[in-house]
Amino acid sequence: MDITTKEMAQMTWQEIEQCIKEGYGIILPIGSTEQHGPALPISTDAICAREVSLGAAENTKMLVAPTIQYGYRSRPLSGGGATFPGTTNLSGHTLICVIEDILEEFARMGFKKVVVLSMHMENQNFIYEGSYLVSRRHPDMKIMVMESAFGDIQENIMDVLFPDGFPGWAREHAACMEVSIMLYRHPELVHFDRAVNDNSEEYPFYDVLPPDPRFFTKSGTLWHAREATIEKGKLIWEEIIKQAGAAINKEFPI
Ligand SMILES: [Zn+2]
Repeated sequence: MDITTKEMAQMTWQEIEQCIKEGYGIILPIGSTEQHGPALPISTDAICAREVSLGAAENTKMLVAPTIQYGYRSRPLSGGGATFPGTTNLSGHTLICVIEDILEEFARMGFKKVVVLSMHMENQNFIYEGSYLVSRRHPDMKIMVMESAFGDIQENIMDVLFPDGFPGWAREHAACMEVSIMLYRHPELVHFDRAVNDNSEEYPFYDVLPPDPRFFTKSGTLWHAREATIEKGKLIWEEIIKQAGAAINKEFPI
């Protein structure tokens, strides 16, 4: 039986059973349902998590599980905050339980190699915690926790992406990088004519509760979305796929 896709949602149980017998691992993509400014859809992180996982899986022995479409609470300084229509948050407790339940199911099926790959910054630590709890019960299953799909980006790429200076990944929410990626991958979902450059009144190194309006932007874009281009999107996308694929191959060599 030859498999024609690595996307588990499109496979039959017999195909999946065969892959597990052949030693395949599985990638669990996790995104968010979160406002992404006036130009991008609320599923941007989930779309990216799924497609990075499929791209990274290409030269690996990995299947890709259905994407978790929801993520941890959007925060003002890294996602715009929880006041926007459409943003639908999970609590940390729920997210840990979701990761735990799904990885338990992977263990039951017999997967020994698991990657949890997040494209939503706020998921950090909660996905590690869920993975940690499962790992304690199943030490024979190796779990790779990718709280980001990439590490440092080469200077020459950063210079092309951010010629006027890099504001930090948290502030890049719904801004140049994400809009560029979506222009490259899904132009049909981008309203570039509505893209804005925005900035909150303050961007401190700490956070406060209740959330402070000085830390919000009106548009939900935290920095400069107008500087996005298809070319930038292609450049950073290929780099992300390369880095994520190499990392997975390093931890789970074929
Ligand atoms: Zn995002």
